[in-house]
Amino acid sequence: MPTHMTRKATRHVNQNEGLIFEKSSPGKAAWKLPPLDVPEVNTSTLLGSQERKDLGQMPEVSEIEIIRHFTRLSTWNYAIDLGMYPLGSCTMKYNPRVNEVVSRLEGIANGHPYQPEKISQGALRIIKTLSDCLLEITGMDAITLQPAAGAHGEFTGLLMVRAHHESKGSPRKKVLIPDSAHGTNPATAAMVGYAVENLKSNAKGMVDIPSLQAQMNEDVAALMLTNPNTLGVFEQEIHKVADILHAKGGLLYMDGANMNALVGKVRPGDFGVDVMHLNLHKTFSTPHGGGGPGSGPVAVRRALEPFLPKPVPVSKPDGTLAFDYDRPQSVGRVRSFYGNSGMFIRALAYILANGPDGLRQTTEDAVLNANYIRKALEGIFDLPYSSPSMHEVVLSDKVQAKKGARTMDIAKRLIDYGFHPYTTAFPLIVPGAMMIEPTESESKEELDLFIEAMKSIAEEVHEDAEVVKTAPHSTRVTRLDETAAARKPILRWKPESQEPTAKSQ
Ligand SMILES: *Cc1c(COP(=O)(O)O)cnc(C)c1O
Repeated sequence: MPTHMTRKATRHVNQNEGLIFEKSSPGKAAWKLPPLDVPEVNTSTLLGSQERKDLGQMPEVSEIEIIRHFTRLSTWNYAIDLGMYPLGSCTMKYNPRVNEVVSRLEGIANGHPYQPEKISQGALRIIKTLSDCLLEITGMDAITLQPAAGAHGEFTGLLMVRAHHESKGSPRKKVLIPDSAHGTNPATAAMVGYAVENLKSNAKGMVDIPSLQAQMNEDVAALMLTNPNTLGVFEQEIHKVADILHAKGGLLYMDGANMNALVGKVRPGDFGVDVMHLNLHKTFSTPHGGGGPGSGPVAVRRALEPFLPKPVPVSKPDGTLAFDYDRPQSVGRVRSFYGNSGMFIRALAYILANGPDGLRQTTEDAVLNANYIRKALEGIFDLPYSSPSMHEVVLSDKVQAKKGARTMDIAKRLIDYGFHPYTTAFPLIVPGAMMIEPTESESKEELDLFIEAMKSIAEEVHEDAEVVKTAPHSTRVTRLDETAAARKPILRWKPESQEPTAKSQ
């Protein structure tokens, strides 16, 4: 069997499109005009110095060739609209189109942040209603919608932690972070000026309570806990974690980027969390990825409310809404105006359309889908932690590594099967990690295709690991030097060398 072919017909996207220059042949054009029947004009008299004299090596192609070329290229960027996107710790879920429509409604889309509050009551009402919904979902007391992403929410949250401790006389020195935390957590703590102290996980993949007890002292400002953590495991003793921190005046920060595993089931405010962020672009209907705008609201317990970024939306006695700028203890503004309001609209439309039951169902489906994949692949791939999976499952390449095929190889081979790779080599506490998050979006049929592909790759590793180790075979370029591609991108085609723009190794 040629290696570029896959065993099962699960290909979604063809990535083998040539350069437009390669399609060029002299004399072809994308336009056809009747003979000139008006006086000829010298364009340089109209354009002056603007006229481009040298057109360089422009490709000469027909209109349909241009259209097809760019339409095909547009499918290279693997997207949730093309097929499953199993990246873990990322939540690439499908978001209903209707939320896009709502966010583009004229009155909403054309609102301007410099409009007086008097004529921005609708926008303020959206902000207030979404805030109330998120407080209900999280069980927290107060919230800001300003931060533009999850990591930005962490930063904002820790600024508030710092301000809280400073108001009590000392900012404290350390932030504790478990080894199963998301990578942004230690980065955030360092940016806010804290020393990061690593906390070991136990055999179940959860915070080790005795270690926490030993490490907790009056120098610790907070513990940043990703929950469910990056093993896809719910921290079952989180209430004890909170008690241990609170006993010494520390705060519990919950990284709630993965709230899509908890919405409608449990509320962080009920198990002792003091401050947390949400990722609207993971849990509440905003397209995720591509560098587009995100939103990372931060919800806090009452004691932290004075430190919220300003302005804070408030209800006035006459029932209208306004921004309150008079917040002497505020950590200040963390985002221009009041954050990425387009995300608020999508999130609110999504929450209202689903209602409490719909949101709960979404959570249950996300968890069910992850466990369906886990059950089907357990035994074929190694399962390093046996604790119940929430929204994602972390497997490892332990079995396949014996034949030399590592997590990256298996992930690359998935491309030949028409799937986006899963998250490789993360979390760090699992050697050869394969982290898979299907989300609630996927049907049983789609999950079965993915499972078939994974099983088929495992068989390939067994029979002829080389096919997997040299994948992908169906793409125009194969293993890229990712560092060089990021640091020294070649963005211009050089006609002399006939070299493609991206070099394969
Ligand atoms: C995605 C994620 C983040 C970071 O969110 P961004 O919006 O990408 O900044 C932080 N923590 C966890 C657990 C995440 O999954």
